[in-house]
Amino acid sequence: MTVGYLRPTRILVDQNAIYENIQNELKDLKGTDAVIFPVLKANAYGHGMIPVAEAAQAAGAAGFCVAILDEALALRRANFMEPILVLGITQPTEIELVIANQISITVGSLEWLQAAYEIVQQIPYPQPMHIHLSVDSGMGRIGFRDATELLAAATFIKAHAKYFDLEGIFTHFATADDPDDTYFKEQSARFNELVAVLPERPRFVHVSNSATSLWHSACNENLIRMGISMYGLNPSGNAIPELPYALKPALSLESELVFVKQVEAGSKIGYGATYEASESEWIGTIPIGYADGWSRRMQGSTVLVDGHRCEIIGRVCMDQLMIRLPKQYPVGTKVVFVGKSGDDEITLQEIADYAGTIHYEIICGLSDRLPRVYS
Ligand code: PLP
Repeated sequence: MTVGYLRPTRILVDQNAIYENIQNELKDLKGTDAVIFPVLKANAYGHGMIPVAEAAQAAGAAGFCVAILDEALALRRANFMEPILVLGITQPTEIELVIANQISITVGSLEWLQAAYEIVQQIPYPQPMHIHLSVDSGMGRIGFRDATELLAAATFIKAHAKYFDLEGIFTHFATADDPDDTYFKEQSARFNELVAVLPERPRFVHVSNSATSLWHSACNENLIRMGISMYGLNPSGNAIPELPYALKPALSLESELVFVKQVEAGSKIGYGATYEASESEWIGTIPIGYADGWSRRMQGSTVLVDGHRCEIIGRVCMDQLMIRLPKQYPVGTKVVFVGKSGDDEITLQEIADYAGTIHYEIICGLSDRLPRVYS
């Protein structure tokens, strides 16, 4: 992907906000033995993996979580030597890379271990690969659901200690961000039941995503997979506004007016000619569109110009969109899509609500064409 450095549209990432959010979580964990593994998958939720990893490392992260092996290898290539856990399923055929780079991987079935065992025996200089057993306590995604199979997997690992090291066991909650904790409690109980079948607890036992560590910290165990809260966003959206500490959003998105004109009443704007000026209007064009992750669903939402709310009018194009200005503004005037302008602020939650989704999807959808600028 070619990055658009030469157009005035950019994501601004406040590394200090990431640092502070982790430090606040560490303060909250004081007196426990829990460590933080920031979740850096999907290009650090769109914020840029390496600069976020740097801020997280400086703040005291003990390791990292990613979704796929490629992300783990990118961190190793950037010289991050902390433990890195791949949360998704890694192909058994890739285990030579896993071992060579000392990556910790998630295993969710005995069948996977048996397949890996066949392959690992053919690797010339095997070292034990670090395994975290995933328990499906109710998320229904990946992991052991059955105590007998879980015990068989732990026994298999122990029997083949030359190749496998049981470093952790974990689960993922489906409703930790829900004010109703009934299902959370069921999942938690199921996880504890399954962990209890192991003859010994591995070094890391973990259950906490951001929502769990914010609102169910009594369940934390000893590793926190801190994702969205590290980026300064409330995991529940608006569902649970109370937080143990303030979260500082790290991301803003800005551009500039690149074309400004006055149109007559009746003038049409954009593909499909869906917008018609009702009177003489000032129209600004901004170089951002759905190819940058600013979806066509954002038609009718607002951006901030000089502290004023301005509506996106007509359809959002692939690379440009148009807004109605309250008056003439010069080309080069700043336009805020996410962040503050004057006394007003557009939050990612507002954008997500408008688009009918969650803020996670908005930030992960911001394309690589947008340059990320760090401060
Ligand atoms: N743990 C697992 C297994 C995940 O899949 C995720 C993200 O989806 C996280 C932790 C981090 O979640 P959050 O961003 O809500 O903290």
